[in-house]
Amino acid sequence: MSKICLCLTAKTISRNLELLDKYRKYIDMAELRVDCLDPDENFFIRHFPKQAGIPVILTIRRKQDGGNYLSGEGSRVSLLSRGLAFAESDKRHNFAYVDLEEDLDVPGLEEAVRTFGTRIIRSYHNFDGVEKITEKVRSLRKIGDEIVKIAVMPQNLQDVQTIYRNSRENTDGEKIILGMGPYGFNTRILCEKLGSFLSYTSETEDPEIPPGAPGLISPAELVEKYRFRDINSKTDIYGVVGFPLTTTFSPRIYNTVFSREKINAVYIPFPSLSLNYFLELAEELNIKGAAVTNPYKEEIINHLANVTDAVRVAGACNTIKVRGMPTKSIPGETITRAWSGTNTDTLGFTESLLKFLDRKHLRGQKITVIGAGGAARAVVSEIHRLKGKCLILNRTPVRARELASNYNFSWGGLDSQALDSMDRYSDIIIQTTPVGTFPDVGDDPFELYHFNGHETVMDLIYNPLETAFLKRAMAVGCRVLNGMDMLLRQAKYQYEYILDREFPEQLVPALLASLQK
Ligand code: NAP
Repeated sequence: MSKICLCLTAKTISRNLELLDKYRKYIDMAELRVDCLDPDENFFIRHFPKQAGIPVILTIRRKQDGGNYLSGEGSRVSLLSRGLAFAESDKRHNFAYVDLEEDLDVPGLEEAVRTFGTRIIRSYHNFDGVEKITEKVRSLRKIGDEIVKIAVMPQNLQDVQTIYRNSRENTDGEKIILGMGPYGFNTRILCEKLGSFLSYTSETEDPEIPPGAPGLISPAELVEKYRFRDINSKTDIYGVVGFPLTTTFSPRIYNTVFSREKINAVYIPFPSLSLNYFLELAEELNIKGAAVTNPYKEEIINHLANVTDAVRVAGACNTIKVRGMPTKSIPGETITRAWSGTNTDTLGFTESLLKFLDRKHLRGQKITVIGAGGAARAVVSEIHRLKGKCLILNRTPVRARELASNYNFSWGGLDSQALDSMDRYSDIIIQTTPVGTFPDVGDDPFELYHFNGHETVMDLIYNPLETAFLKRAMAVGCRVLNGMDMLLRQAKYQYEYILDREFPEQLVPALLASLQK
C-alpha cells in the first residue's frame, strides 16, 4: 500500500516537529527538507529521526530541482554527511531514507548509508514537462534496493496519460512517480494505480510554511477528502472535468457519500484545457463517469453516443457515464469508449427555485436570466417548460439571441439598453455567469442594474454563498437564493444517473453543513 509522506519545510526543527504532531495520525513518514531550514538549525538535523518517531527522508533540495539550496555541491555533501553520521544500531534513530539526485555522484557516502540500512531514493525532477518515464526509471536505478523517484510537470492531461501509461509498463522495483502542478494533482491521489511507493503532502493552512512542491495538499485532505487509504487496484474512478476548475465542491460531496456508503470509488477533479485530453485519460484510467462543467457543457455533446431528453432540450450536458456498448468513433480521435450524457442542472434548478418560491410552475412570472452559457441553457429550458416568460442578457449578445430564439424569448446585451427591458422582466432575476466566484468575490456581473427590492434574486454561484450581486440585492430588501441548494439537488440526480443507485438522502444535512463550512 502506498504511503503518505509529510514534506517538512518549516524554518526550524521545532516547528517541523509541531507540524508532524499535527498530522501524525494521517502520515506514515516524513521528509525533512533541510534546504528550507534556517542555517543555524543544520547543527541539529542528526537527531531529527529520533525526535520524529517515524521513518524520515533526509533531503537537501537544490534550487534547480525546486528547492532552496544555493551553496555548492561540496557543502551540500558535507551537510548530507552530517545528517547521516554516527549511525546508531537502533535504526529508528537514523534517517530511514536519503534523497540523492541522479547526477550526484558520491560513492563513499552511498556505501556508508547502505551499510547502516538507510535506503537511497534516487530522484529526478523535470519542471518543464514529461519525458519517457520508462527509460528514465531504468537509467536511474543503479542498485536493486534503491527507490527511484521521478517528479515531472505535466503541461496538460495528455502528459498525465503518458505518466500512467509509462508507469504501467514499468513494474520492476519500488518507485515514486508523480505529476506536479494542477494537471498532475490526480497522480498524488492515485498512487496505488501508479504503483508509487508514496505520495508527498504538505502543510497548507499556515502561509508561513512554503509548499514542498507545486500541487501538494495536506495529509488530512488526502485522507479525508480523497479517500487515499481506501484506494486500491479495484477502486472505480469518477471525476469532474472543466477549466479552470478552481471551485468545485463535488469531490467533497461524492467522496463523503462513497465513504459513508462503503463504495469502493473515488472522485477527483480533472482540470483540462482540452476536452479530448480528458476523454483520452478517461480511457487510460477507466473513468466510469464524470461531471462536466464550464466551459465544456455544450462541446461534450459531440462526444456522446446517447443523450437524455434533458440534454436534447437544454442543448447542454453536465453529466456523462460510460455505456456498456460499442464505440462511437470520432474521425481523427483515439477515443473509443461510448459515453451517455444527461443534464441534472435542469431538475436541480427547478426543484430549488420552486421550493424557494413555494410554487409549482412559473406561469405569469417575468424573469431575467443573466448569462447564456451551459448553466443558462438548462435554466432557460426549465423556465420555458414551467411556462415563465424570459429575457436573456449576455456579455456576448449574439449568444443570448441564439438561446432566446429557441423559445421565442427576449434577449439583449449586458448594457444600459437592457435596463428598460429588465424593468419588465424583474419578478425573478437569475444570475448564471461565474462572475463573483471565489477568489474574485468583489466582481458583479451587472453593476448597471439597480434592484428595487421587489425582485426575487437567484445566483447559481455557491462559493461564496453571498456573492456581491446577492449582497446588493439583499441590501434593498430582495429575497435571495444562492446556488448551494441547487448544487446538492443536481449532484443527487447526477449520482443516481452515474452510479445507478439511490442517493442517500439522510446524508444531505451533513453534506450541507460540511460544504457551508
Ligand atoms: P459557461 O458555459 O462557461 O458560461 C459562462 C457564461 O458566463 C457565459 O454566458 C459568459 O458570457 C458569461 N461570462 C463569463 N465571464 C463573464 C464576465 N466576466 N462578464 C460577463 N459575463 C461573463 O459556464 P456555466 O457552465 O454556464 O457555469 C456558469 C456558472 O454557474 C459557474 O459559476 C458555475 O459554477 C455555476 N453553476 C452552478 C450550478 C449549481 O448547481 N449551483 C450548476 C451549474 C453551474 P459569454 O457568452 O460572453 O462568454
